[in-house]
Amino acid sequence: MKKAVFFLMTSMIIFQSCNQEKAMVIESENPFFSEYQTPYNVPDFDRIQLEHYLPAIKKGIEEQANEIEIITSNIEAPTYSSTIEALEYSGSLLEKVSYVYLNMLTANTSKGLQEIAKEASPLLTTHEDNIALNAVLFGRVKEVFEIMEELSLNSEETMLLEKTYKSFVRNGANLNDSDKAELRKTNEKLALLGLEFGNNLLAEDNDWILIIDNKEDLAGLPDMVVSGAAEAAEAAGHPGKWIITMHKPSWIPFLQYSENRSLREQVYTAWMNRGNNNNEQDNKEVLVQIIKLRGEKANLLGFDTWADYILDNNMAKTPEAVYDLLNPLWEKTGAVAQLELNDMQVMIDAEGNNFKLESWDWWYYTEKVRKEKYDLDDETLRPYFELNAVRVGLFYVINQLYGIIIEERNDLPKPHPDAISYEVKESDGSHIGILYMDFHPRKSKNGGAWMDAYRKQYRIRDEFVTPVITTVFNFSKPTGNQPALLTFDEASTMFHELGHALHGLLSDCTYESISGTAVPIDFVELPSQIMENWAAEPQVLKVYARHYETGEVIPDELIERLDRSSKFNQGFSMTERLSASLLDMSWHNSRFDSEIDPLQYESNEMKKIGLIDEIIPRYRSTYFAHIFNGDMYSAGYYSYLWAEVLDADAFNAFKETGDIFDKTKANDFRKYILAKGGTYEPMKLYNKFRGQDPDIKAFLVRTGLE
Ligand SMILES: [Zn+2]
Repeated sequence: MKKAVFFLMTSMIIFQSCNQEKAMVIESENPFFSEYQTPYNVPDFDRIQLEHYLPAIKKGIEEQANEIEIITSNIEAPTYSSTIEALEYSGSLLEKVSYVYLNMLTANTSKGLQEIAKEASPLLTTHEDNIALNAVLFGRVKEVFEIMEELSLNSEETMLLEKTYKSFVRNGANLNDSDKAELRKTNEKLALLGLEFGNNLLAEDNDWILIIDNKEDLAGLPDMVVSGAAEAAEAAGHPGKWIITMHKPSWIPFLQYSENRSLREQVYTAWMNRGNNNNEQDNKEVLVQIIKLRGEKANLLGFDTWADYILDNNMAKTPEAVYDLLNPLWEKTGAVAQLELNDMQVMIDAEGNNFKLESWDWWYYTEKVRKEKYDLDDETLRPYFELNAVRVGLFYVINQLYGIIIEERNDLPKPHPDAISYEVKESDGSHIGILYMDFHPRKSKNGGAWMDAYRKQYRIRDEFVTPVITTVFNFSKPTGNQPALLTFDEASTMFHELGHALHGLLSDCTYESISGTAVPIDFVELPSQIMENWAAEPQVLKVYARHYETGEVIPDELIERLDRSSKFNQGFSMTERLSASLLDMSWHNSRFDSEIDPLQYESNEMKKIGLIDEIIPRYRSTYFAHIFNGDMYSAGYYSYLWAEVLDADAFNAFKETGDIFDKTKANDFRKYILAKGGTYEPMKLYNKFRGQDPDIKAFLVRTGLE
């Protein structure tokens, strides 16, 4: 089970077959086949070569298949240990090689590795299906599940048993053969439709361009946007002109700064009609089919709606719990958005204009109001956020909270020469785990920032296996004799990812598949987002935000402006996000018996909640890729806001003590949240830490909604 997520990730890429001859590798020379001879048994990156992956993956698959065979051919009655634990502990070699292989694919890829992936990915998918669809295996799991009460299992064992059983059931293991066949067909159709939705959207994004040939139509645009538009035109065979596209770095600044109102309207109208142009790339019928099939799948698996099916696995558990979060927020948000709208209308009128603000004006006037009220840009702040100073500040916060010491080590093999290795230790010097930090972009690395594991924490027999965690970023490189200077957002990102890293490092669980960050999507961002609060605290900023040339501590006046600007335009941003979350829930928490007109449905649902005309949902149905291009965030778009409510409330627990480094709270956070992984229900863990259910109050205050 634990490998499912990883395998799905690689199988999402479409591969061609590859018949390249592989060099024979002598087993004793393959570092995956024996203990790594390295400190803390970290992967032996210096010895691992491309030709080692495939033989290790193939052998790993074979080994696990044999281990499963032993479980299923056992003639004795199944027990917890001979079935559930045996399955949990199976596949150790495959796991060992997969961690390295998958991390390398995202952070240090190469043509050679991608070739290997073409061959490995289908093997891994088939292997995973063979386990998930193994009826004999499920039969034994079910037998153990049914006698759970008699087994006197501890809470972690109970959780592992429940999750193992449930993951089979959610994949249809309990259905009769004809329903199973039906489900398989539905899954195949859904996979294709999700792909089609994404491809249509990509084509819509790539097809639409606005060609500008009159220099006056560029009025108001920053130089960088103009030169970007000129380059795009040059590349598209329109030298001397300018092109605006549907890609965010192009259309967003255009809406923010273009003084040409009718062009703004043209661009924004194109944006909000993506997938809705009645052409070959239209997504209306695609999404209707997805919604219908999801409803059928949920019913087949015994759930009333798709939202019931999805949420059953999340922290929220029920659609009602999601609405209990979204509705009160929605009520507060409307008034704030209205104030922002009024501010902008005043400005429009004062400029001597005679029009009412429309949705394509919002971005433009927001920037004007922002400039007038806050006048704060990234470049003013950058000199105070030198990369190394931010890192030192971050390690200081972690030390203040948990007493943990993080020290650089120069004697460990590293996943890439640019990565830095650290040992993470308790205050008494005892070893916790290894942490890699890999800061700068390179061609072999994906965009964005993330945390992952090269080895997760778990226990096997009496051995405590320590974690090896990596954090990967794409921060700007140092230039000339200027060090790497970060934006405040980037500094927050470093805190965020280290929050995920702590979730992996401080894990204290028995079973790997439910340890560390193996928690639902509406819970996993709590440990990371809470760290961003410390990054922005004045007391902490004064420790780490120092001018890189003069050493001057960031002035109070800048800290104040930073705080005020973080609350700016929240009415708009919350309205966009909440209406999209509510739209997602409407689609997935309803039963559709008759024909659906998707745009009419969307419009009715938005009318019902009272969305104002000047704001549209952050994603309209025909381009809501989060929920229709795959089901990762279907009935789950709310989780972003949910996690923010959690992190604001959890951070408030510290603030209420009067000490943001309160040791008791930190100890509780570590004990109940960071150490426990997925071994308990998240809401129970949260309650143990907070002493009560999460309260939205702190989030409302932080965003200025109250
Ligand atoms: Zn995150």
